[in-house]
Amino acid sequence: PYDVLIVGGGPAGAAAAVYAARKGIRTGILAERFGGQVMDTVGIENFISVQETEGPKLVTQLEQHVKSYDVDIMNLQRAESLTPPAETGGYAEVRTASGAVLKAKSVILSTGARWRELNVPGEQEYRGKGVAYCPHCDGPLFKGKRVAVVGGGNSGVEAAIDLAGIVGHVTLIEFGAELRADAVLQRKLASLPNVVILKNAQTMTVLGDGNKVNGLVYKNRETGDDIRLDLEGIFVQIGLLPNTDWLKGTLDLSKMGEIEIDARGQTSAAGVFAAGDCTTVPYKQIIIAMGEGAKASLGAFDYLIRSSAP
Ligand code: FAD
Repeated sequence: PYDVLIVGGGPAGAAAAVYAARKGIRTGILAERFGGQVMDTVGIENFISVQETEGPKLVTQLEQHVKSYDVDIMNLQRAESLTPPAETGGYAEVRTASGAVLKAKSVILSTGARWRELNVPGEQEYRGKGVAYCPHCDGPLFKGKRVAVVGGGNSGVEAAIDLAGIVGHVTLIEFGAELRADAVLQRKLASLPNVVILKNAQTMTVLGDGNKVNGLVYKNRETGDDIRLDLEGIFVQIGLLPNTDWLKGTLDLSKMGEIEIDARGQTSAAGVFAAGDCTTVPYKQIIIAMGEGAKASLGAFDYLIRSSAP
């Protein structure tokens, strides 16, 4: 059995593993795919102290750092259920898809999230070549250019306001008849001179020249017409889905499905902690996920000290 079992091998899980191992306690990390979303990231320019890196390169460094400690890495394993410790000092159980049952005195959940995709032709082909999901990450790549933001909820409208200050022109594309963002955000957006808002518009196709995006086609849902927009970037902002389906009914989740945590990363179950994109922590970023992983690990260590018999 482990003192700390970490479920999820992205930046949050890797940071949690290093912090736990440095306390000299038995640490395991279970991951469906070590590296998580960072594996899918092309350029990273906002991981402070590293001016520029690439996702897979950062993942190799994360793995090397974890492996330099005595940590059991169980890669390509998916957790399917969690039973929290029945009492303080008891064991939690994590069952994997392969049928294994892992026991641990504390668990740190860091299963991350995934962006909801448009599922239209061209989206996959031009992912990272004009199709982007994170304005904080990729906004500066489109300085002075024309972009679309797909999605008129809070995240889409916030992204459009943010991008309008960097790029040349923003077209916000909303599928429904009205934007769903807070009124204050909608007012701010409407006041910006380089933003056009399209409602009742369904994104149909991402267009490109073979190397990068050069436009998109949307359907005007009132007239049925297909209309082409020429642009260089498309930010998809139609939702971030936390990987927490398997925890429903076990832990308190927000209405978005994020694991509710307190300031120490403690979930609604004693002995179970969580960190990173799968939690209610605002702003989903690598540097934030790492800090949260470190915090949850220290939270778990504190729990272990207090729960073990003298
Ligand atoms: P994740 O990275 O999502 O890792 C989750 C881990 O949990 C993975 O190992 C996964 O396999 C595992 N997992 C999930 N479910 C299970 C399960 N049931 N059982 C076992 N394991 C499971 N952020 C930046 O700061 N800068 C950027 O430039 C940047 N660019 C990005 C570009 C793209 C294309 C994407 C998708 C994201 C980008 N981000 C960027 C966001 C950043 O990648 C995330 O905020 C960060 O990876 C979150 O870390 P995490 O550890 O919480 O989760």
